[in-house]
Amino acid sequence: MEGGMEGLPERFHRLSLAERREALRSRTAAEGEEWAAIDAGQALNELADLMVESAVGCLPLPLGIATGFLIDGLPTAIPMAVEEPSVIAAASFAARIVRRGGGFTTWATEPLMRAQVFLEGVPAGAELRLPEREEEIRRRLDAAQSSLKARGGGFRGLEVTRLAESGLVRVDLRIDVRDAMGANILNSAAEHLRPYLEQLCGGRALMCILGNAAEERRAGARFALPLEALPQAAGPQGGTAFSREELARRIVAAGELAREDPQRAVAHNKGIMNGITSLALATMNDARAVEAAAHAWAARDGRYRSLSAYRCDGRTLDGELELPLPLATAGGAVGFHPASRLALKVLGRPDARRLARIAAALGLAQNLAALLALVSGGIQRGHMRYHAARLAYQAGARGGEVRLVAERLAARRAYDREEAALELRRLREAQA
Ligand code: NAD
Repeated sequence: MEGGMEGLPERFHRLSLAERREALRSRTAAEGEEWAAIDAGQALNELADLMVESAVGCLPLPLGIATGFLIDGLPTAIPMAVEEPSVIAAASFAARIVRRGGGFTTWATEPLMRAQVFLEGVPAGAELRLPEREEEIRRRLDAAQSSLKARGGGFRGLEVTRLAESGLVRVDLRIDVRDAMGANILNSAAEHLRPYLEQLCGGRALMCILGNAAEERRAGARFALPLEALPQAAGPQGGTAFSREELARRIVAAGELAREDPQRAVAHNKGIMNGITSLALATMNDARAVEAAAHAWAARDGRYRSLSAYRCDGRTLDGELELPLPLATAGGAVGFHPASRLALKVLGRPDARRLARIAAALGLAQNLAALLALVSGGIQRGHMRYHAARLAYQAGARGGEVRLVAERLAARRAYDREEAALELRRLREAQA
């Protein structure tokens, strides 16, 4: 293994953006294509420098648009940033199927999040004084967060919990954060109230921080698909197609499997998050927060389970998905970064609740596409098409050559780089 980037200046983060970039370039001997790949141009590089410490450039994650969605009667195009080849195609494929049955219907709760103050050394029973002061707490928070209150958000109540093992007291301030993700709003609220809470119950705060579980900020989507709208899916190894009734039965069984078996549930939910995380990234939302909340929700009854469920009454296949979706359309990088602003325009300038509803529909579409493939012809058939294109590119194919070489590899089911190089040579010889 090579040593990586040797001899980086001790105070790398103190260098100017240009100096940091030069240090990186000279020490890695970055080649033209590698260097160009992280150079988004001066304006965006400077923006990156504003956003994170030790910035050196920007990562050009592929951005695509999933199409074909009908969500609560509205045709919706969904921007997705993702490196995995089949994700956007799968979302669009399932969206078109669901549209034949009238599309997705969705819902979302109010954007309620929690700011949490953890107090040590609170004398037994002293925490019971806190709920008595809820109105004073409201007054203090309303005064500190007047712009949030003016937008219709703000304090919605207090919860106090004595933790059984440590004896620490957790004070939850429930706050409607409107269109923000809310981290800074919530952290500021908790820190603002810290001295008052300490004084009220005679303890000392160990920390003040938002809760990322976001259990009260949920969204869901469902569809009801007449079985005739299901595609004719091939059987395994391209064999005889299943009847639509059998295909629906297999999808329901796959959903139940992911509810029963935590091992299967992890991959099942990962597929749902393929869509949701890609949308979170395209809008520059905090994708880690969305993932953390989703997986915690999946394990809320003490066992990790699937986030979606399917039913079939012999005529209609019903699918539904519900999860916490702390997505923002204001604040943080959202609405500030030009790429995020563009993504919100593609989405029709939603508010945070509408964005969460779109994300739920997208997650359900992603799940349906994966299950359709898994219980019929298998997931690899679709994936290998993209894999072949990447092999062709790695072998040196460019432009129209990529598709032609990939098609030859797929026809021969020969998926390796030597075969790609061979096919490229043959193609070029034939064209010479
Ligand atoms: P923020 O700090 O930008 O605050 C939201 C801002 O948007 C406020 O200034 C508010 O006045 C303004 N705003 C404009 N229109 C609004 C509307 N309609 N509704 C609500 N606010 C509106 O953003 P934030 O959401 O408080 O914090 C998000 C950032 O914090 C993210 O970048 C996240 O990654 C980061 N963060 C996350 C964690 C965590 O998840 N544990 C911890 C710390 C920081």
